Amino acid sequence: MIENFTGSFTQQEPIPEVGIEAAINVLRNGRLHRYNTAQGEVSQTALLEQEFAASVGAKYCIAVASGGYAMGTALRAVGVKPGDNVLSNAFTLAPVPGAIASVGGVPVFVGVTENLTIDLNDLEVKLSLASVLLLSHMRGHICDMDRLTAMCDAAGVVVIEDCAHTMGAAWAGIASGRQGTIGCYSCQTYKHVNSGEGGFLVTDDPDLAAASVILSGSYMLFEKHIAAPPVEAFVDLKYTTPNISGRMDNLRAAILRPQIKDLAKQCARWNKRYYSLEMGLRDIPGLTLVQRHAKETIVGSSIQFLLLDWLSSDIQEVIAKCGERGVELKWFGAPEPVAFTSRYDSWHYAPSKRMNASDRILAGIVDMRVPLTFSLEDCAVISRIIRAEVSAVYQAAR
Ligand SMILES: *Cc1c(COP(=O)(O)O)cnc(C)c1O
Repeated sequence: MIENFTGSFTQQEPIPEVGIEAAINVLRNGRLHRYNTAQGEVSQTALLEQEFAASVGAKYCIAVASGGYAMGTALRAVGVKPGDNVLSNAFTLAPVPGAIASVGGVPVFVGVTENLTIDLNDLEVKLSLASVLLLSHMRGHICDMDRLTAMCDAAGVVVIEDCAHTMGAAWAGIASGRQGTIGCYSCQTYKHVNSGEGGFLVTDDPDLAAASVILSGSYMLFEKHIAAPPVEAFVDLKYTTPNISGRMDNLRAAILRPQIKDLAKQCARWNKRYYSLEMGLRDIPGLTLVQRHAKETIVGSSIQFLLLDWLSSDIQEVIAKCGERGVELKWFGAPEPVAFTSRYDSWHYAPSKRMNASDRILAGIVDMRVPLTFSLEDCAVISRIIRAEVSAVYQAAR
């Protein structure tokens, strides 16, 4: 009998009941704008910022409208000007080069390794081209941050981390997003917490934090923040920093607060599913699993494998056959970008020289979401289906 999978790859868990209640409270009191507080009240958004900062061990946190907005704000705060080069990953998603373009910056793409992390040898060659690196921990793969930090420090390159896929993850026991000068996170439905849209920016630098608060649209209400630097940090900045509205609101913050509290528990559940899938995909001829660095604490909210040097038509066949059996795989090697998958050569507003070694890897990347609504049994069924279809196509191709 042919086994099929019938679950949904895009169905997330419901918002925790306490979050729903807190959201209803905000709706009942009508104070949705983050600076609309009753006498003596600290807003849901301000509390969320304080709690998220504490959870990653950051001094300052600003909650904003999206992860993309957080990255744009970070780039502005560190002083990227129109025409400036900004280094970033060739393997990432569209909001990353989009954030660079949003401030008039020019993305300079750095290659990807078989571990799906930024190619540090390629970075070394390109470091002198820019003074900022927007480092994307794409699909949760964290590169050797010790080497990256040493290289960037030596070259005077400021690191901004895109942690859309590493909220809750860590490098050498330190929260992802805390190695760079600024860490950016997303609270969009498909990430690790879900408020539909939303994002965070964290830093220990008081000037960057103050600038980010004003940039995010604080007017002169920055004193209502409790995870921002003291008023002295704003004295000069308030006259020179534009207000580019992109605030978080109290309704989303109310939904997010219990999710931040639960994050570690949720990450452990993701990892059970990830490692079960990884186990199920071991030792399949032609299929390369992605190695994880020993210093990485992962959050397995998605899984990738490589069909390296396969013919495009064979990869397409695997994707189609798995799809017929209910297993939704995404392929980064498709000639045309579809849904969420695009790569550096899809972004025509940011032309780049071809990178042959990276192209070979991108052409083989197969990607699968792992929502928490999957059971461990679901993961076993999925890996059996992938094993069968990959093996069949691989053998037919011999
Ligand atoms: C989702 C995502 C972001 C930011 O997303 P928003 O939708 O703007 O919150 C940034 N980087 C990567 C790699 C992403 O997948």
